[in-house]
Amino acid sequence: MSVSLPHAVARLRATRLARSVKPFLARGGPKGERCAGCRLVPTHCLCNLRPEVPTRAGMCLLMADIEPLKPSNTGWLIADVVADTFAFGWARTEVAPELLALLSDPQWQPYVVFPGEFAEPTRVVHHLTHSEHKRPLFVLLDGTWDEARKMFRKSPYLQNFPVLSLHPEQLSRYQLRRAQSEAHLCTAEVGAMCLSLANDNAAAQALDAYFDVFTNHYLKAKQQLPVDWADDVHLRLQAATRLV
Ligand SMILES: [Zn+2]
Repeated sequence: MSVSLPHAVARLRATRLARSVKPFLARGGPKGERCAGCRLVPTHCLCNLRPEVPTRAGMCLLMADIEPLKPSNTGWLIADVVADTFAFGWARTEVAPELLALLSDPQWQPYVVFPGEFAEPTRVVHHLTHSEHKRPLFVLLDGTWDEARKMFRKSPYLQNFPVLSLHPEQLSRYQLRRAQSEAHLCTAEVGAMCLSLANDNAAAQALDAYFDVFTNHYLKAKQQLPVDWADDVHLRLQAATRLV
């Protein structure tokens, strides 16, 4: 593992925590022990398994207010894998100038990732327009389904960009939030599909496998079971990172 600075989602979490009026949120578990690198208890830390994969694509996470505070948030995993990940807290009445600057930076072609049936049909695309001069920037709306729909409708600065509508071939594997519908992929799963559309295939596979390892560690920690470092999900992640 290389020692790196906290990524965009970690920084957003820190900023959001600083504003929190509920101090218990800052402590994590009942004993308060959480790894700052992965938010898990130290026995289940997955920082040594973080894949380092170069990507051409970038990720821009717009996060609902509480989202960066949730240990089950999977936008965090995208930021672990994709070096060019940007993260912003979303609010209906204000927008960060840094976000507007990012969206208008000519090196990027933003795509708002959202189901096509909710968008103007003329905006909907299913593939990327490949360009040598512009790198794809995937704008992911990270929150509950209701929050994501609100962000989509109430962010005028997103309205001129194509809407990338994904067709998942498999149901969501996300098991960490009971309310999550199987029909809606979680943020890390969406991120992996986007990377694959951008031909960042090694990163797509690494993120996908890393997501399964995160789920495995998270659930084992919750059940107070030890991690089996040589089980199928770990071997798959090892194989995926060997592709690089
Ligand atoms: Zn850790």
